[in-house]
Amino acid sequence: MSDRTLKPATIAARAAGATDTESAGVVPGIHLATTYMRGSDNALAREDNQYGRDQNDTVREAEEVLRQLEGAAATRLFPSGMAAITALFRTVPNGGRVVVQSGIYWGATAWIRDFCARRAVELTEVDASDIEALTAACATPADLVWIEVPSNPWLKVADIAVAARLAHDAGALLAVDATAATPVLMHPLEMGADLVMHSATKAINGHTDVLAGVLSCADPDGATWQRIITDRHDAGAILGPFEAWLLTRGMRTLPLRMERMCGNAQAVAEFLDGHAGVEAVLYPGLPGHPGNALAARQMQGGYGYLMSVLIRGGRAAALAVAGRLQLFHRATSLGGVESLVEHRHSVEPDTGIPENLLRLSVGIEDAEDLIADLEQALTG
Ligand SMILES: *Cc1c(COP(=O)(O)O)cnc(C)c1O
Repeated sequence: MSDRTLKPATIAARAAGATDTESAGVVPGIHLATTYMRGSDNALAREDNQYGRDQNDTVREAEEVLRQLEGAAATRLFPSGMAAITALFRTVPNGGRVVVQSGIYWGATAWIRDFCARRAVELTEVDASDIEALTAACATPADLVWIEVPSNPWLKVADIAVAARLAHDAGALLAVDATAATPVLMHPLEMGADLVMHSATKAINGHTDVLAGVLSCADPDGATWQRIITDRHDAGAILGPFEAWLLTRGMRTLPLRMERMCGNAQAVAEFLDGHAGVEAVLYPGLPGHPGNALAARQMQGGYGYLMSVLIRGGRAAALAVAGRLQLFHRATSLGGVESLVEHRHSVEPDTGIPENLLRLSVGIEDAEDLIADLEQALTG
């Protein structure tokens, strides 16, 4: 059976076939060596292993799982999501032009603005879920178009196939941050994207104990991908072997976790939608969400684990609801097995986030328990 015939659950559970070839263990070992031996003839014992920056079999095993899940030609891991994003943006030439979705992950926006200013790169920020606005932004030539689908924390849904066409017409590559969808629910490369990125810190690892980022591409011979590979090797933004091993372990249950998290998130969103204490629920799985039909086309198996809720009564009411929650941990981040809640305005006060917005990351707990907790917090 070739990779292509295997479904995500099979690829993930088997860690894409990784085992310990030395001990015959079912689980691969962790390779910690930073350097590799040469033979008496001075030839490398293994040609693809010379030095630990960036050659490591444990990291390659995790990359192979991700490559197969993504349906990508090549995949590289980085020590955080931001390390992956910055490796990609560093491929943009000085004086170039980038089109970036507005209202996305704040850490990315902040770094991209600073980077573009320092490198004289023209930056156009645009609501990529608005096709007319995106068309206008892509009317001038560009090097890179960067979108986040669904976006964090607004849960906007951009049309990846349309964005790819507009980017290509502008001479740009399309890169998609698909962290909120994971490689299980959505395949941007199949829709025409050139590159896809995830913060593997989130649902890909899923256990809130590894920082990692991943980039995958459709064309491994392209100049941008080649520069990314060189950048990782030369600049040294590499994932440690222990983190890679934990990632491979965590990913064995990624499809299973996504099934449960999407089911829970859908149930939680439906409960919150129309609740007297709630003004609005931003979740692409709700029929009233402007991106619902598009998300249904672009995603398979659910709409993800991330949502935002506008609480009736403003900032104080939102903070009070968050404060009364007993099962949701009050913490930043998303995608773990445990549910989290965060008052985003406290973290990014100047980016237009409503003061009554709570972002929820729904975990794998029992949906009835989560709903009961939200009910007591909303009515409390
Ligand atoms: C968390 C996050 C990132 C950054 O990832 P890190 O692993 O924290 O560096 C990028 N994009 C999105 C959508 C995220 O949620």
